[in-house]
Amino acid sequence: MKFARVLVDRSGGSALDYSIPPELEGRVGIGSRVSVHLRNRQELATVIELLDETDVPGIRPLDKLVTERPILGPNLLRLARWMGDYYCCPVETAMRAVLPQVVRKGDAFKQRLAARLTRPVDDALIAEMEKRAPKQAAIVETLRGAVAEGTENEPPDTRQPGFMPVGVLLKQAGSDRGSLMALTRKGLVVLESEIVGRDPHEGETFIHAAPHELNAEQAAVFEQVCRALDKPEKPILLHGVTGSGKTEIYLQGIQRVLDRGQGAIMLVPEIALTPQTVERFKSRFAAMQREVAVLHSHLSEGERHDEWHKINDGRARIVIGARSAVFAPVEKLGLIVVDEEHENSYKQEDPPRYHARDLAVVRGNLEGCVVLLGSATPSLESFHNSQSGKYQLLRMTQRIDDRKMPYFRIVDMRMEGSPEKGPAIISEKLRQAIEARLERKEQTILFLNRRGFSTSLSCEKCGYVAKCPNCSVSLTFHRAENRIVCHICGHTAIAPAKCPECKDPGIKYSGVGTEKVEETVSRIFPKATVRRMDADTMTRKEAYREALSAFRSRKIDILLGTQMIAKGLHFPNVTLVGIVNADISLRLPDFRAAERTFQLLTQVAGRAGRGDVEGEVFVQSFTPHHPAIQFARHHDFEGFAEQEIEWRKQWEYPPFTKMVLITGRSPHEERGRFSMETLARRLRELLPPNTTIADPTPAPLEKSHGNYRFHLMLRTHSVLKLSRALREVLAKLTFPEDVTVTVDVDAYQLM
Ligand code: ADP
Ligand code: ZN
Repeated sequence: MKFARVLVDRSGGSALDYSIPPELEGRVGIGSRVSVHLRNRQELATVIELLDETDVPGIRPLDKLVTERPILGPNLLRLARWMGDYYCCPVETAMRAVLPQVVRKGDAFKQRLAARLTRPVDDALIAEMEKRAPKQAAIVETLRGAVAEGTENEPPDTRQPGFMPVGVLLKQAGSDRGSLMALTRKGLVVLESEIVGRDPHEGETFIHAAPHELNAEQAAVFEQVCRALDKPEKPILLHGVTGSGKTEIYLQGIQRVLDRGQGAIMLVPEIALTPQTVERFKSRFAAMQREVAVLHSHLSEGERHDEWHKINDGRARIVIGARSAVFAPVEKLGLIVVDEEHENSYKQEDPPRYHARDLAVVRGNLEGCVVLLGSATPSLESFHNSQSGKYQLLRMTQRIDDRKMPYFRIVDMRMEGSPEKGPAIISEKLRQAIEARLERKEQTILFLNRRGFSTSLSCEKCGYVAKCPNCSVSLTFHRAENRIVCHICGHTAIAPAKCPECKDPGIKYSGVGTEKVEETVSRIFPKATVRRMDADTMTRKEAYREALSAFRSRKIDILLGTQMIAKGLHFPNVTLVGIVNADISLRLPDFRAAERTFQLLTQVAGRAGRGDVEGEVFVQSFTPHHPAIQFARHHDFEGFAEQEIEWRKQWEYPPFTKMVLITGRSPHEERGRFSMETLARRLRELLPPNTTIADPTPAPLEKSHGNYRFHLMLRTHSVLKLSRALREVLAKLTFPEDVTVTVDVDAYQLM
């Protein structure tokens, strides 16, 4: 092959051809990272094709190879292309997600010099050396203590010499570089520069945790998983209630894959990627701890680089990580697990706006491996796929040890509160339930997904409402700082004591946030220890850990917080969960509002009664008969799904169609609207069949960060065709400079 077609990292999207110079012949492969000349600049690029000929005139040679071996396998390259086509974004944008920035640059290896004996050395030789060259003898003696990995437990004469970093060696031996060099000249010692892996978990030891013996339900599911591993056919959806032992299935599935000499990726939502989760994995695979790579957003660039290469070189075969781990370059991939597959955090909200669960399915297809999606509340998309036969559905209906599901009590808030005191925050029934827990020394969790003290501030006299100057939302009052804050753009001002318009002192704070619940609960239960966990109190990482450990050791009676406490936490002493206001998520202008509420209630309820005592869940709501609440109460996912799917079908919402949301933003309202109307008109001419387009409308969040926002919603049965049409139209249209247009395929964020 004489030519390479490359994608330049920073370019408009077209592929460019370069010739392969003789010195690089045979070393350039698909996926190689190279540097090329483009418009008088050195640019980094990825080889996407090798060609025998090209008709491009005036072709130039590649400058050099950035890394010796191809860094992107053919399947990941295909995945990147598919992303570009499907999510309607340039391939380089997709590539940026597939290859971490620090890997693309290709030079962040941390290297150090290490020394090793070339052969085993006996005492006699050292004694001999000591007479003539004591400093050399000291080095040899120290190096004898370094044993190669994997031979530590063998008898002394078969142990292989191991490497020691030169700095450490000279210090321990009390010797110098000159003596070391003398030894290398004699051929007794070799020096090598070794790549130092920055293991984020270095120095921690994990005690091996043996697999559990599977119960009957798990065993039946596991058998199906093993059958799929032998002969991958279609993705598996594992619907298992909270605590039914899904994670155990994942762990044993991964073990099975390793036994077959393959690797595995385990995706978890970022918020669930806690030390607890990682520990559970590292403990199960303690014997091969170094083979477990962890990818999450808190890694330093260096750590990310090292973890990535550890996987790419095959030194790590198990990858656990948040959504971007779906791109982990695992060789011989046998299994991709997506835990909590319904989680919205799998959707990336910046370009490329991919959904990691969907990419897992696409990648599984490319690699011919098994994809296992698990959840207690599957997304309706996945559930629908299992109904239509696209996925295989497996169920686990019992909690381990037959623990009971928590008991739901719905509190009709229309009956609470009084005209004098206004609406109640904690109903009488919930109050009694908390009191009973305090008496029995059991713990309570209260959930409210809204920060701050009051969520709106208005003047009853003149009708003034405190609104953000940049966004179309009310400002939230934060009492601790005595400020009013915009939760969208962060705009803040001192809380006014009287109405800024009419100067009336009777300005009214209303709407309840976590800060207010904290105050109320502390007032009702003065003796209880109450702790609030939300983005305002948990500004430091340690604060989060500290609060959880205090709660675990029962120093806190009532833990109160936002979604931060909704997921993945296990506290056996919690027997009561209160959902302060179930209506918040129900009222969102989003066709998934009911689905989200059902998921949220089920998830939060899963925190109750994990110990020996049955748990109780109190749901406070002004719409107590809403199906999302009623089905959650009866732990009836399938009942909920059936009804909700019927409704979606009637209105042609996903999963019956795919939704593509186009957002136009501009500081000028009219220009924004006009641009979107033009776009809609052009699109109508080119739309593939089975696609509907609505008129552009102001977005529910009409203004944000000073920009007016307009939505154009499309629904289609063929995303690939629609994406192609969209790309064509967008390429031809030029919008005014201050108008930005973004395309979100399979949108989840509809505000
Ligand atoms: P899920 O992921 O479905 O919520 P987990 O896998 O976390 O459930 O299991 C819940 C608890 O039960 C965990 O503490 C786990 O160690 C334990 N467990 C799982 N399977 C078994 C089993 N077969 N026997 C005993 N304990 C188990
Ligand atoms: Zn704002």
